[in-house]
Order: sequence, then structure tokens, then C-alpha cells
Amino acid sequence: MIPFLDLKEINNRFQKEFSDALQKVLQNGQLICGEELSKFENEFASYCNTQYCIGVGNGLEALKLTLLACDIGPGDEVIVPTNTFIATWFAVSAVGATPIPVEPFDDTFNLNPNLIAEKITLKTKAIIVVHLYGQPAQMSNIIKIADEKNILVIEDAAQAHGANFNGIKAGNLGIAAAFSFYPGKNLGALGDGGAVTTNNTQIYKKIMYLRNYGSSTKYSHEYLGENSRLDELQAAFLRIKLKHLDNDNARRLEIAKFYTDEIKYEEILMPKIDAECHSAWHLYVIRSKFRNKIQHELLKNNVNTMIHYPKPPHLQKAYAYLGNSVGDFPISEKLSKEVLSLPIYPTLKDAQIEEIAKTLKRLISTGIRKLK
Ligand SMILES: *Cc1c(COP(=O)(O)O)cnc(C)c1O
Repeated sequence: MIPFLDLKEINNRFQKEFSDALQKVLQNGQLICGEELSKFENEFASYCNTQYCIGVGNGLEALKLTLLACDIGPGDEVIVPTNTFIATWFAVSAVGATPIPVEPFDDTFNLNPNLIAEKITLKTKAIIVVHLYGQPAQMSNIIKIADEKNILVIEDAAQAHGANFNGIKAGNLGIAAAFSFYPGKNLGALGDGGAVTTNNTQIYKKIMYLRNYGSSTKYSHEYLGENSRLDELQAAFLRIKLKHLDNDNARRLEIAKFYTDEIKYEEILMPKIDAECHSAWHLYVIRSKFRNKIQHELLKNNVNTMIHYPKPPHLQKAYAYLGNSVGDFPISEKLSKEVLSLPIYPTLKDAQIEEIAKTLKRLISTGIRKLK
């Protein structure tokens, strides 16, 4: 059986280091906002080439606190991709602003900059770009529009640790960036975690307060804050895994190259990566009209796949109140019916990816169309 993702295998590589880190934190006795957190923040900022990093509770909180720090709230509009994990939209709604959806290109899956300008109004405060599946969004065009209209660009970099656009790291491409360290991400904790990176001192200072009860000194509260901290243990574990992120991403790239070279069928559309973009290959997403059949047949052959995402945010019940209906965002709706994510993770073996390619070949050559 080839799993879609094997977190046990991924994390077992660091068992000894994790145990040592646990002992160290236990000995220190400081479990929240101690030296492991500040060390991780420095190391991750330096990894992203940003001035600051603030560890927070999770990726959704990272987005939400970034919006709050940018003074975005009720009455404001924020451009979001229609094709994303729903967290991008939820963060906007959570601060009381309105998500304004924009469709993606159907080959890169990322926000189409040509469709942004028409959605900008006097209420638009920001664009949240998502580097979906690990590939940076079309940043030069998006930044150009944002600068012309005087609105902010915020990155949802939850899937893009280590990706870069023209050599500039994800996390350093907008006013601020939100990362998630959810276990399955390229840099995953052993539980929930997140961070914001930025070069903006004001945003940095504000989030440092907001994540910790609006406080910098115990029992003195400057803002209506939250409790959204990255704990010492997770920070300690992430410091260990950060050292291996580039190697892990290199293995992801190897696997992606293999799939791209080996899978060449009329029935399957392969993901397109723009010339300026260096994907972190969080996911390897193919497209096919025969998606359901392919997924089913792969599973019968012991290959697990997943769908990112089966239903776009605008059609979710949570957003029924926005009044969207089927047909409003046809590109995303079509993608949700055709995308299929193949296994791609650092400990996946050559024999396994060869098996996946071989199985697909067998399926296609026996006539996937007929099986439909
Ligand atoms: C995972 C993810 C998030 C949310 O991160 P959590 O840590 O799960 O809250 C946000 N945006 C995107 C695109 C994601 O993939």
C-alpha cells in the first residue's frame, strides 16, 4: 500500500533529536514564549530572508492576526482566490471583512492577476495571494496592480515553505506572510503551529502583542488580543525539522520531475509551473475528466491519492449567506471535479513513485475512457 502521506515515516527520522529537544524543554521548565520560540523565530525569519518572524497558534491565526495588524476589519473587502483551502476565506470573515473571490488560471491553479482589477473597489484593502500547492502566485503582476491601487498584498504561504519567485522566498513577497506548520505541510510540527513573516516593524510589533493577550508585559494589556502562541515544544521540534527543509524540498522536486517526465497521456493534464516560480511541491496535482475513475482504480491498485479540494469555498454551507451558487466561479468548480493529488513527500521511495507511474500507465493503456 502506498500512502498519500506517511507522517510516521517523515517524523521517525528525527526521533532521537525530538527526544533530546523534549528533555531540554523539560529541564528549562519554560513551556510558553521561551528561548526555543525566539530561536525558531530568528531561524525561520533568516530562512525566509525577512526581518521578522512571529510564531503563532496555527495558519488560520497567522492570517487572521496579519489582517488585524493591517487594520482590516468590518466594512473592508479583501481579494481572495476562489481556488484555495477555506482558511484563506475564513481569516477574512473572522475579522469581519468581506472575501471578494477571484478565479485562478486553470493550468497553474493560482490567482489570475488579469481578473483582479475589476474586483477592486474603494473598500478593497488587500489581496491575499495563495501559493497554492507550493507554487508562488504571479507576484510581479499582482504587486503591480496592488501598488497602482494602493492596496496591500498578504501571502498565504501555508503550502509554500521554501518556494521562491524569481529568487525571492515565499514569506518575503508581500507586506506580510502567513505560514502553517500543520503536520502535513512541508515544514510540519508535531501538532498545530503557525507563523507570520514580515519586514514591517509595525506589523511585527502589533502581532507580538495580539498573539499574547494584547500584552508585552504581564498583566498590562494594550490591545484586545488573543491567545495564539507557538509553544516551546513545537518550536523546538520545528527548529530540528527546519534544518532538513531544503533537503526535503529537493526530494519533492525530484519526485515532481519524475512524474512530469513519466506521465504523458492525452487523458491527463500535468501541472504548469511558471518560469519565475520555484515550487515547494507541497502537492503534485494532475487534472483529468476521468478523475474519479482514475482515483478509484489507483486505490484498487494500492495507490492512495487525495483531492485538493473537492468543493470550493463559495459553495460551502458556511458561505451560503454570501448568496453564491453553482456556476458563479466555473473555473474553480471545474477544477474541483478534475484535480487529483498524487503522493509526494520526502520519504517516498523511488520504487514507490515508479509503481505509481507504472500503475497509471497500465490504467491509461487499458482504456480509462472505457472504464468510465
Ligand atoms: C493549511 C492551510 C491553511 C491553514 O493552516 P492551519 O495551520 O491548518 O490553520 C491556510 N491556508 C492554506 C492554503 C493552507 O493550506
